[in-house]
Amino acid sequence: MGDKIHINDSGDLNVSDNPTIPFIEGDGTGVDIWPAAKHVLDAAASKYGRKIDWLELLAGEKAFNETGEWLPQETIEMLSEYLIGIKGPLTTPVGGGFRSLNVSIRQILDLYVCLRPVRWFTNVPSPVKSPELVDMVIFRENTEDIYAGLEVEAGSPEAAKLRDLLRDALGWNVAADAGIGLKPVSRSGSQRLQRAALKHAVRRNRKRVHWVHKGNIMKYTEGAFRNWGYELVRDEFADVAVSWDDCGGDAGDKILVQDTIADIALQQVLTRPAEFEVIATMNLNGDYLSDALAAQVGGIGIAPGANINYITGHGVFEATHGTAPKYAGQDKVNPSSVLLSGVLMFEHLGWDDAAKDIVNAVEATISEKIVTYDFARMMEGATEVKCSEFASAVASRL
Ligand code: NAP
Repeated sequence: MGDKIHINDSGDLNVSDNPTIPFIEGDGTGVDIWPAAKHVLDAAASKYGRKIDWLELLAGEKAFNETGEWLPQETIEMLSEYLIGIKGPLTTPVGGGFRSLNVSIRQILDLYVCLRPVRWFTNVPSPVKSPELVDMVIFRENTEDIYAGLEVEAGSPEAAKLRDLLRDALGWNVAADAGIGLKPVSRSGSQRLQRAALKHAVRRNRKRVHWVHKGNIMKYTEGAFRNWGYELVRDEFADVAVSWDDCGGDAGDKILVQDTIADIALQQVLTRPAEFEVIATMNLNGDYLSDALAAQVGGIGIAPGANINYITGHGVFEATHGTAPKYAGQDKVNPSSVLLSGVLMFEHLGWDDAAKDIVNAVEATISEKIVTYDFARMMEGATEVKCSEFASAVASRL
């Protein structure tokens, strides 16, 4: 058995060359994409004398079939204990009141950053003219906003109570037949996300950070997010970053921090993508933005994701697409989403060398037009390969 990953007092991960890393295979096409990704991750790690001991954890259908539970307590305990994990997609069981397993894992471990890098690989079919200009990292807040689940149904006794309270206490009139949701956005929740985005920009030598918000309308939530972001720049990052208002747009050697209203941002990431490098935003904006951006560079088959708590060190790295059940077990779908999530995991562990090799090998494979069905159907002259064959092609180019 390998070594446990630890976080030290200064917040850095201690990772040996032989760590134990838990994985959840995932439902549906998880049986195809996970072994493919693992093949490449192991090969890249071994190039640098490292060996991962993979520890399987159960979740989703496999867990339900073996234990009668969709998300066994042991899985949460092990993710908590081992800090880092990687997972394939999980079925969200349909039925009254069932929470998504992915959302449950994020909430239980307080994984407050949803990290979604978006970049283009040569030859990947794209609906835009210059996809090569897209190279952004989105930090989406993962725990607050209207995703906090604080909602009451129209016509329910709870809605009536809340309506009365709002009228009596604040003089607000809410329609009698309205459902009501709360949108909490806190200073601490905003700043821990923004701090992670700024630190990433410093570490990765990025020169622009945008706060994306709708603060012109929602002043005390989205507008406050913007203000708290600027406050953070002044209080904690003044030596390396400066806000637009404090420098008139000329940040010199420092990181330029600016803000953009969400609707304009959704236009500008399409029309002026080169101006965006690191984006930090609240939950709902981030949800829209990351999927819209992923579409520019090839869609969900290749978009990686991670959910991270930089304070406790916990991170769960995951494919961003679903289980695609109609393709399950056919060795057909694109393993790049979970593989590139593994790259994010390597970067998080400080294994930048192996991470870079995988990215270069994926780039080389796709630029030779060796691709799975999803890209092959949109690419002239492509060689369509199976999921496992794509992984072998990548591994042989490491
Ligand atoms: P989905 O599984 O993401 O599949 C939708 C379509 O996306 C597929 O039919 C396929 O398109 C394409 N696709 C998905 N994975 C791909 C891959 N690896 N390579 C290439 N193309 C891929 O979405 P869904 O059918 O709406 O959801 C199915 C289940 O997944 C649900 O139970 C849902 O709750 C769950 N889900 C889980 C997660 C997660 O675990 N993070 C996320 C989303 C959904 P074509 O048919 O055009 O080829």
